[in-house]
Amino acid sequence: IIQLYTPLNWFGTYYRMIQSAFVDMESMFDLLTEEKEVKDDVNAGDLLFTEGRVDFQNVCFSYTAGKEILSEVSFTVMPGQTVALVGPSGSGKSTIIRLLFRFYDVQGGCILIDGQDIYKVKQNSLRSYIGVVPQDTVLFNDNIRENIRYGRISASDQEVEEAAVAADIHHKILSFPDGYDTEVGERGLKLSGGEKQRVAIARTILKSPRIILLDEATSALDSQTECNIQASLAKVCANHTTLVVAHRLSTIIKADQILVLHDGRIAEQGRHEELLAMGGLYAAMWLKQQQTPESEVSTDEQPQDSSQ
Ligand code: ATP
Repeated sequence: IIQLYTPLNWFGTYYRMIQSAFVDMESMFDLLTEEKEVKDDVNAGDLLFTEGRVDFQNVCFSYTAGKEILSEVSFTVMPGQTVALVGPSGSGKSTIIRLLFRFYDVQGGCILIDGQDIYKVKQNSLRSYIGVVPQDTVLFNDNIRENIRYGRISASDQEVEEAAVAADIHHKILSFPDGYDTEVGERGLKLSGGEKQRVAIARTILKSPRIILLDEATSALDSQTECNIQASLAKVCANHTTLVVAHRLSTIIKADQILVLHDGRIAEQGRHEELLAMGGLYAAMWLKQQQTPESEVSTDEQPQDSSQ
């Protein structure tokens, strides 16, 4: 009996270890999928992506009761077009991007992709079509190669390097002490804001999503870096439905449509020239920026901010 029991006991111990390893892995994935604010509907199906049209219909949203951040926001991004969001700091630009990625659910109205309410589709399915280039990119404690590969885990080393070339960060990586094997993140080499953003762009290139959400960094970049980033972004975004929180002029001028947010509402909308001709909020913002040195240009200053 003892002879029989020992292997069973052994098996039991290992079984529990393996089981707890899986539990740890699950909680790790829970962490990766962010807060559990948003739940899939029991009947949720996959998003049937066709052409990439995005509609916001009378969207209302608040983070805390009583403080409405978005009120009756409606707009359409046609397939392959680029829409820029501008407006004062705190006007709700980034919130619009978070809602489309479904970090939160809307409290009024709806958001549609190709006619399907994103509230009714599986989050994983929705997010598989969307790439986000955030304001501040998180780097993991791993080497730079794996940090880029995070965009598509199955990508080969060669694909990782091609993405880095397209995002204009390849040469920079080669100058790191161990090239692509250089450890980054909290415990490794610290990257500048512009470099981290290019890592995010490289990840997005690897993921090659159908819809791109871009939250431009507010911090000023030197004009060469800025120019390189714009060029690589233009490549990524071409023919992809793109929603961009714009802080810089170059993005705005070329956008198919500009939405000017004010107090959680769309105050003006149109193309750059149209908005200038209207002589309203956008025209005033533009004028102010023209008088500001290029390195300090940002579209989302508070109107009363005249510190520059
Ligand atoms: P910026 O240009 O400064 O990034 P924004 O226009 O993108 O601003 P949002 O980040 O969308 O503005 O924020 C809109 C409002 O919602 C702000 O008043 C902000 O304080 C508030 N807010 C943002 N995130 C949260 C949150 N997680 N909980 C509570 N309030 C929030």
